[in-house]
Amino acid sequence: MRDNSIFKQGLKELNIELTETQLEQFEVYYDMLVEKNKVMNLTAITEYEDVLIKHFLDSLSIVKTEKAKKLLFSSCCLIDVGTGAGFPGIPLKIAFPKIKVTLMDALNKRINFLNEVISALDLKDIEAVHGRGEELARKDQYRERFDLAVSRAVAKLNSLSELCIPFVKVGGLFVPYKSGSIDEELEEGKNALYKLGGRSTHVVKFTVPLSDYERSLIVVEKKSNTPAQFPRAGGKVFNKPL
Ligand code: SAM
Repeated sequence: MRDNSIFKQGLKELNIELTETQLEQFEVYYDMLVEKNKVMNLTAITEYEDVLIKHFLDSLSIVKTEKAKKLLFSSCCLIDVGTGAGFPGIPLKIAFPKIKVTLMDALNKRINFLNEVISALDLKDIEAVHGRGEELARKDQYRERFDLAVSRAVAKLNSLSELCIPFVKVGGLFVPYKSGSIDEELEEGKNALYKLGGRSTHVVKFTVPLSDYERSLIVVEKKSNTPAQFPRAGGKVFNKPL
C-alpha cells in the first residue's frame, strides 16, 4: 500500500472527508492513469504524490468557492468540458457521489479511457461523451441542462465561455479553473460572458494544498439564456473570440 498521508492532509485542509472505499477509488484511478499513459498521452504528471496534489487535490479545490460547494453537496448536474484524462470531473464524482456528471472531450481515445475508469470504479450517474463543446452545446439534450460547468486547462476565458456557458441553466454556475495572474484574461473575457448570459461575480484565489501552485477560480453566474447564435460554428469560438 502506498503512503497517501499527504492526500489525507490535503483533504483535511479542504474539509473533505472520504471513506476507505473512496480513497481506494482514487488509488485505482491513479493506477489506471499511469498504466494507460504508457500507450497514450494523458498526463505529463505521473509521480504518485504529484498526481495526488496537482490533479486530485487541485480538482477538488473547487470547494473553496462556497456556491460551487453547495451545489456539489446536492445532487446537481455537472459538466466537465475538455475533461482529458478526467480532470476535474472524475475526482469530483468520486468525492461527491450524489452528483450527476457528464465528461466531455473532443478526443475519442480519452473518452474510451474514461469509460474504462467509470466501469472499474463502478461509478453511477456519470457519462463520458465524445464531441466538441461548441457542437454538443447546440443539442437540446445538453443545452442549458447543467447546474455547474467546470473546465481546466482548455482555452482562454473568452473562447472557453462560449464553449461552456451554453450548457448552463439560468441560475447555474460556470467555474473555470485558471492559474497565475488572470486580470488581463478576465478583462478580455468580460464581453463574452455578458453576451452569453453570464456575469463574473468574483474570483477565488488560493494555493493548492501542499503545493506552491496558485489557482484562481472564476465564479460566473448564468443570469439569462444564451442567445441561439452561440456557440458559433466553423472554429470562430477560437479564431474570433467574442
Ligand atoms: N481538463 C483536463 C486537465 O485539466 O487535465 C484536460 C486538459 S487538456 C490540456 C485539454 C483537453 O480539452 C483535451 O483533452 C482536448 O481534447 C479537449 N478539448 C479541446 N478543445 C475542445 C473542444 N472544443 N471541445 C471539447 N474538448 C476539447
